[in-house]
Amino acid sequence: ARPENCPPDVEILGRATWTFLHTTAAYYPERPTVTQRANMLSLLRALPTLYPCAHCASDFDERVRAHPPDVSGRSGLSKWLCERHNEVNEKLGKERFECAVGKLDERWKDGPSDGSCD
Ligand code: FAD
Repeated sequence: ARPENCPPDVEILGRATWTFLHTTAAYYPERPTVTQRANMLSLLRALPTLYPCAHCASDFDERVRAHPPDVSGRSGLSKWLCERHNEVNEKLGKERFECAVGKLDERWKDGPSDGSCD
């Protein structure tokens, strides 16, 4: 296996980026201010202009253009992001994730009810 202190490859970077994005969406306010909405929109639009995997970035840019981000609140944003991630999953032959807010919160915010992540 590759030592942990190596520079991130496309997989490690992707996993870290999805973790950041899904977690940020899970904690985004249910009723964001105008400024919070504008900042989230800027973050999502800026990502493909800076992301250091060129083919991932141009692909994601197209997806964001085809499906404008729902920055209206945390449940809409979490679902929007889940759907975009599923599009990448499909392209890579990975499993789809069920984009219900309960499932997303369990994975990214609350952990399972059996307490195994507490
Ligand atoms: P990841 O896909 O990284 O997912 C991490 C965890 O998120 C999973 O273990 C699961 O628990 C959870 N999860 C899975 N699907 C969802 C979902 N829909 N909603 C919420 N949670 C979910 N790689 C390429 O090879 N080519 C590309 O073009 C490419 N484009 C990318 C574009 C972006 C914007 C990003 C952030 C990453 C991209 N990647 C791309 C990387 C790729 O998506 C994966 O991150 C990488 O292959 C590692 O996959 P993984 O199996 O560890 O799980």
